[in-house]
Amino acid sequence: MVGGGLVGLAVAYGLARRGRSVLVLDEGDEARPASVGNFGLVWTQSKGLGLPAYSAWTARSARLWTDFAATLAAETGIDVRYRQVGGLHLCLNEAEVEARTRFVAQMQSQMVTAGVRVEMLDRAQTRDLAPAISNAVVGASWSPLDGDANPLFLMRSLIEAGQTQGMRRRTRQRVAAIRPGDAGYELELHDGTRLSAARVVLAAGLGNAVLAASLGKSFPVRPERGQILVTRRMPRFLGLPTSLVRQTDEGSVLLGDSKEDVGFDYGTTPEIGARIAARSIASFPVLRTATVVRSWGALRVMSPDGFPIYQTWPDLPGLWALACHSGVTLAAAHAGPLADAIDGGAAPAEISQFTTGRFDVPSARAV
Ligand SMILES: Cc1cc2nc3c(=O)[nH]c(=O)nc-3n(C[C@H](O)[C@H](O)[C@H](O)COP(=O)(O)OP(=O)(O)OC[C@H]3O[C@@H](n4cnc5c(N)ncnc54)[C@H](O)[C@@H]3O)c2cc1C
Repeated sequence: MVGGGLVGLAVAYGLARRGRSVLVLDEGDEARPASVGNFGLVWTQSKGLGLPAYSAWTARSARLWTDFAATLAAETGIDVRYRQVGGLHLCLNEAEVEARTRFVAQMQSQMVTAGVRVEMLDRAQTRDLAPAISNAVVGASWSPLDGDANPLFLMRSLIEAGQTQGMRRRTRQRVAAIRPGDAGYELELHDGTRLSAARVVLAAGLGNAVLAASLGKSFPVRPERGQILVTRRMPRFLGLPTSLVRQTDEGSVLLGDSKEDVGFDYGTTPEIGARIAARSIASFPVLRTATVVRSWGALRVMSPDGFPIYQTWPDLPGLWALACHSGVTLAAAHAGPLADAIDGGAAPAEISQFTTGRFDVPSARAV
């Protein structure tokens, strides 16, 4: 396994549970990888416009999450704080309600097929679920399948559970190049060390583009920055996550839903931070007294249309390359049915379109 972020670890854990001998090589660079800088949502309601299979795959993972979290807790004692309590996307004026209503209507048939219920709520219905909203909130979209988890606990539990199953993990190991060899593949590490492996999974996030290029393949992923603010612990005011604001079980509040195309810059900016804070306060006035104790930027791993890439190539047997921009949401599917497929089982029907071949034809952008 090349890459020890959420995608690599979830699949590595899944393979180790199936009795495979797995070695995870992770660079652990200075940048904050998406896996430790994300918002922690397990989210279905906006996933897959233009690619129904992605809605279905996301819904499948969300439905697997309860058992997945329980298994991790049983194997490691770590509660990853998963809650399937429903999730809200708040609208702050009539124009936003109209746009969101249109979006939900466009998604309706593929959501029904995927078994995901998404409804538009008016202000009173939204307030029933989130009493602390301001009068500026006009409505919201809501799905009962949505929820959240603690991504840092998830990372830790995947490492511990994987290691319990025999997974080995080496950090500060950057794979510089990979090429076909006598015993499958030869991996060249940054310090010149060479390793060979019969089968390889590339799950190095944005690093996959370079690794695939060393094999003469295109793997089109680009960075998209998101900034997040974290407040000091506050008395509980929010019992379910929204796409902008979520309160953890310890009481601190995460704010942020920004999307910026700034290359590999994972810094923060006062402009975006101020915009996130202003919208969060407009949604929940109680945040006016919040103290922000931390903020960070992290880079999403985006394909050209935003949907996952799970790639194999006929001339590179035993090699998979994976990327997605919802590694928390999809962790249960990655450890389950995707690991099965990588282990030689039948590929789940949903993932047949998650290849780079779809970029040969125009398609809709994901949201
Ligand atoms: C701001 C933000 C908010 C997000 N919110 C959510 C959310 O609410 N819900 C959700 O489901 N998803 C969310 N995501 C997305 C989610 O975090 C990512 O989908 C997921 O973390 C991707 O995991 P990854 O393992 O593919 O990549 P990464 O996290 O980037 O990890 C890749 C790993 O590979 C290593 N690596 C890179 N190159 C090499 C190499 N050559 N050799 C060895 N190792 C290498 C890196 O050091 C890193 O550890 C968010 C992302 C961001 C940035």
